[in-house]
Amino acid sequence: MENLTLERVANVDSDTRLLSEVDHLNRLRQYDGSYSARDISEIHENLVTAVKEAAVPFAVSTTHQEYRDGSFYWLDQRPEDVAFSGYRFHQHESAIARVDVEVEEAIDVSLNLRPGIFKIFISPRMSSLDAPYEQAKKEHLGDDDQIRIHSLNIDEEGVVVGKFMQSMLVRDIPLSAWFDMLNDPNNIFGKSLKLENDGSALTVMKTHAELEIDEADLPEGVIGIARAVLPYMDKKDRQKVQQQINLFDSDQDEIHKKAEMIATRWLDFEIELSESLISGVASNEITNFIGSLAASWNDDFKRIINRNRLSDGRLGMTRDLAVELEKAKRNTLWISAAVSAGNQEIIDKIGPDASNRILENEKSIKRMVGVSSADYDQINRLSNQNNNLIASHNISIGGGCGGSIMGSFNTVEAIELFRNRKESWTWTNGKCIIGSCANKGETVLVGPCSVCRSCQDRFDAEYE
Ligand SMILES: [Zn+2]
Repeated sequence: MENLTLERVANVDSDTRLLSEVDHLNRLRQYDGSYSARDISEIHENLVTAVKEAAVPFAVSTTHQEYRDGSFYWLDQRPEDVAFSGYRFHQHESAIARVDVEVEEAIDVSLNLRPGIFKIFISPRMSSLDAPYEQAKKEHLGDDDQIRIHSLNIDEEGVVVGKFMQSMLVRDIPLSAWFDMLNDPNNIFGKSLKLENDGSALTVMKTHAELEIDEADLPEGVIGIARAVLPYMDKKDRQKVQQQINLFDSDQDEIHKKAEMIATRWLDFEIELSESLISGVASNEITNFIGSLAASWNDDFKRIINRNRLSDGRLGMTRDLAVELEKAKRNTLWISAAVSAGNQEIIDKIGPDASNRILENEKSIKRMVGVSSADYDQINRLSNQNNNLIASHNISIGGGCGGSIMGSFNTVEAIELFRNRKESWTWTNGKCIIGSCANKGETVLVGPCSVCRSCQDRFDAEYE
């Protein structure tokens, strides 16, 4: 009985977490069904950060919060509201205590950020004293230390127009190194904080109000903080952290452009999902996404599809289906981003052949997207090819507060078997769920995902 309750709580959480941008879109929709350009650009910026955190661990994220009506804002939320939303995503006592500090930090930055200084926030991963590793991992706080810095954005007339936040994720920094740095009177902050090393990451987080540096003394921005902690660890740990910092030294502008492109495709999908949830029916783009991956979905996903079929042959949209689609979309897009940005861990998992093909397709997509006469059929074809290639590897990817994500895809062997034996699939009478199907609404033979033979052949031709 107790297990059942826990599982239900966990499901509600993943639902809220995975559909948070979709829910923002639904909340911000204007009366005529459109969105304001500012909201769209702020959600896009948020997705760029999420792509970087999940797929390009050596990327620095920069976001801007506009100053208006006496507060800083992201969408219609103040920094403390954004921090406060963390309470919905965490269960463990120590994780909740971290949210308390994040709310305090958000308020402190809003009140006390001054021209010409950076305010710094160090959030080490949970230590074994904070929570057992498995628990920390569930909270998405088990692996990465996050470092954030804030600075004011001031226009030529000296008026505050907003603030910038730069953040990075880094692994393998021992908690003791943070304590030793903060206690060293000759540290980058020029003062010892005289902390007691109690073995808790919370104690380091709570120092935020005291951590300020002149902008001129931190020319590298947030990377400078990671570099400053290097002297406080032993040689072995230092090498691991130094290697990551070397990757951060790669071309951040180029990484940013790639993450922006992936985020644009992700945002399009979020809008389709949000509109499908509102109307209760999957849009054409959503059914195309499902159909293009028909051979890759696992049985659980197929059951959800069958549960959501409407009698007129359209596909109903529910939150549980939306969550599965969101996971699949994140998995395929993040792996595309990881491969194009040169994330070696993911490239090794996928292998050189598939990685090269994904990379070539991504380059072609990039060339085509910028042109005014963009050939969307061709872009979709390449993107579907990549999705299938990625789904067939069925690996997890992710980091940061988004956590790691797997799609509801079959094993590699099952997908090959399935794809090669289409003749032996169970074809039953039904209506095709694909929105643009020529047989829409008619009873025809459909495969296990309720996709008719002619739509399936069309999708498979794209894959060849
Ligand atoms: Zn069809």
